[in-house]
Amino acid sequence: IATKHLLPENNINVVVRVRPLSRKEIKAGDDMAVQFPGDGQIYCEGFPSSVEKKGKLFSYNVVFEPTATQEDILQFSGVKKLIEMAVEGFSCTAFCYGQTGSGKTHTLTGPPEMFERTNPYSEQHGLVFRSFVYLFKLLQERQECNFVLKASFLEIYNEKVIDLLNPGTSRKPLMVRWSKKTRGFFVENLFTVECEELDDLLAVLEEGMRNRKVGSHNMNDHSSRSHSILTVSITSEQQMDNSVFISRQGKINFVDLAGSEMTKKTQSEGKTLEEANNINKSLMVLGYCIASLSDGKRKGGHIPYRDSKLTKLLADSLAGNGVSLMIACISPAKSNASETLNTLRYAARVKKI
Ligand code: ADP
Ligand code: MG
Repeated sequence: IATKHLLPENNINVVVRVRPLSRKEIKAGDDMAVQFPGDGQIYCEGFPSSVEKKGKLFSYNVVFEPTATQEDILQFSGVKKLIEMAVEGFSCTAFCYGQTGSGKTHTLTGPPEMFERTNPYSEQHGLVFRSFVYLFKLLQERQECNFVLKASFLEIYNEKVIDLLNPGTSRKPLMVRWSKKTRGFFVENLFTVECEELDDLLAVLEEGMRNRKVGSHNMNDHSSRSHSILTVSITSEQQMDNSVFISRQGKINFVDLAGSEMTKKTQSEGKTLEEANNINKSLMVLGYCIASLSDGKRKGGHIPYRDSKLTKLLADSLAGNGVSLMIACISPAKSNASETLNTLRYAARVKKI
């Protein structure tokens, strides 16, 4: 028996995380462009050439100030709810959005040395590690169900899908196909690892991060242009009386998006969507999908999921039988205020979905 569930009111929840000023920014005399007037609020200063000359106040579900810890993000972003729903059979996605250097990778995985599990309970561990720990805690509480976890880790670079767990195949990009059976998109021949223990999941995280690094000549440029998706699919079976089985199939994606400044770059260079292929089609199409979803008049209308690899793979959690969490990452620095305002506006739009 496949079970249907009621969806929460909002398909996408939005939180904002502000990183601290970096040592370099402080040394250069950069200052804070943002303030936190109240719960869930953030005020960003404007500047003469911006639309918001006088600055603008935004509100979201939650705003994490620079002092927020990695554990705070697990506890208060709503990601725990997402994991619970994935266990219940929903398609869920947590994605970090923001300009390069705003803290996306830090939020998801922590500093680079965290991929090596030398210090298993460091304060610096990111959201993925913490979510895995929480997931296993949940599964242990549900002895009445039989769970099978499978993990995969891929990267979309230049609209090509690369398997981060099986980089040997990366010369031949993988195909994204439609499955009639599951009525969803999937990546053909993607390596999936069955994970029985927490350590198996952590090994997947570690291995994928290592391959992402090794596969690129310039890590900074590469990670600003590529999206990575770590997926854990969760199948559960529960035996009821008279040998009736209830089975559920959920999943959770953790997505580290390309730097949001990439879309603007594409537009300012006057390129068409076709030409933009080489820069960042997926990020643009995600923007179009979000715009269509949030536009009241077009609700129920066409959402262009099929126009990029990223949106095909996230379609079921952006709409349909899914829930998403957007973590908008921003820099607090005055020198980044223009990108910060862009990110806050984008996040405000997502909130309306
Ligand atoms: P992105 O992935 O968005 O390009 P990073 O996660 O690489 O950005 O962050 C840029 C730099 O800022 C890194 O050196 C990172 O360690 C640091 N950083 C980001 N967020 C925080 C934070 N909340 N606390 C401390 N340092 C942070
Ligand atoms: Mg990054």
